[in-house]
Amino acid sequence: MALGIFSNDIAIDLGTANTLIWVKGKGIVLNEPSVVAFDRVSKRIVAIGHEARSMVGKTHRDIQTIRPLEDGVIADFEITEGMLRAFIRKISPQWQPARRMVICVPSGITEVEKRAVRDSAEHAGAKEVYLISEPMAAAIGINLNVAEPVGNLIVDIGGGTTEIALISLSGIVGHESIRVAGNEMTDAIVQYFKQNYNILIGDRTAEMIKCQVGSAVPFAEEVDIEVKGRDLVAGIPRMIRVSSVDIRQALNPTITEMVSAIRTLLERMPPELSADIFDRGIMLTGGGALLKGLDERIRLETNLPVHVAEDPLSAVVRGTGKVLENIDEYSAVLIKNRRY
Ligand code: ADP
Ligand code: MG
Repeated sequence: MALGIFSNDIAIDLGTANTLIWVKGKGIVLNEPSVVAFDRVSKRIVAIGHEARSMVGKTHRDIQTIRPLEDGVIADFEITEGMLRAFIRKISPQWQPARRMVICVPSGITEVEKRAVRDSAEHAGAKEVYLISEPMAAAIGINLNVAEPVGNLIVDIGGGTTEIALISLSGIVGHESIRVAGNEMTDAIVQYFKQNYNILIGDRTAEMIKCQVGSAVPFAEEVDIEVKGRDLVAGIPRMIRVSSVDIRQALNPTITEMVSAIRTLLERMPPELSADIFDRGIMLTGGGALLKGLDERIRLETNLPVHVAEDPLSAVVRGTGKVLENIDEYSAVLIKNRRY
C-alpha cells in the first residue's frame, strides 16, 4: 500500500508485539507484528511484520525469526532499525528526508536506550525526533485530559512489558514497569501443556488459546477446547481436550504478578492522587487488557473501578498521533531531549 507523498510526519508505537504507524493528517496506516525474518547467511532481513510472523516456528535453519523489542526495549539495535526502516518504506516508498517523528518508549527506559531509539529514528530518515512515554501516549489516546491536576492511573499490558503509570499535570508522578505481560501468559500456557500433558504446543497455538478461552475470573459456563501438539514421549502429533478452567489456572501466576505490581504503585501514591484514583479508577490499555475477566479480577483485588479502553491495542498510537498533530499543545508531555 503506497501512500505517496502525503506528509513527512509520522507517529510510531514501536511495541514489543506490534508496531503501529500514524501519518499526520491520515491516521493509522500500518499495524503489523514487530517481527523480523532474518537470513543468517546473507545477514539480510527477508520479511517483516505479518509476513515474518507467519514464518514463526516454521523456518528452516538459515532463516531466523526475531522479535527485536522483546522486553520493551531495543534488544537488537541493528535489526530494530532495519525493521523500522522497512515499515516506513512500506508506507511511503518515496524517500522523505525532512520527517518529524514522535515515537513512544516504555516509561522505565534508560538514557542509553532513549539514545538508541532516537538514533534509529534518525537513521530511518527523521530530522526531528520526539519521544513520549507509552502510558502517557495511552492516556492521551483514550482522551484523558492529562494536563489537569488530577490523577489518572494507566495500566498498559503489552507483549513484553506491563507499564503502570500515575499521570497528573502532563507528567508521570510514579510508575512501575515489569517484564511480565502477554508473552508471559502465552509461555505459561506452553509450559502448562508440557508439564501436565507432556505435549509440546507452538507459541501461535498457545496465543490463540489465550485469546479465545483464556480468562482471569471464572466463566458463567466453562468451555472445553481441542489442542494439537507433539507428544513428548511418543514423539508424534496428538490432540487433547482441556477446559478453560485449566487455562485459567495456567495464567494465574502471571496475572497475580501484574496485580501485585499495580498494588505496589497504589501503595506509593500521594494521598490526594489516591483519592482521585478512588473516584476515577484504573484504565487498562494494550492487547493484554483484552484477556477475558482481567478488569473484573483487578476490580476484585483492588476494590477500585477498572475500565478497559476502547480498542486497547491502538490506544498508544492514537495518543502518539494526537501529539504529532498538535505538537505545540502537547510539548509538556514530551520526554525532554538530553544531549551528551
Ligand atoms: P505491545 O505494545 O508490546 O506491542 P500490544 O499492546 O500490541 O503489545 O499487545 C500485544 C499482546 O496482547 C500480545 O501478547 C497478545 O497475545 C495480547 N492479546 C491480543 N489480543 C488478546 C486477547 N483477546 N486476549 C488476551 N491477550 C490478547
Ligand atoms: Mg504497547
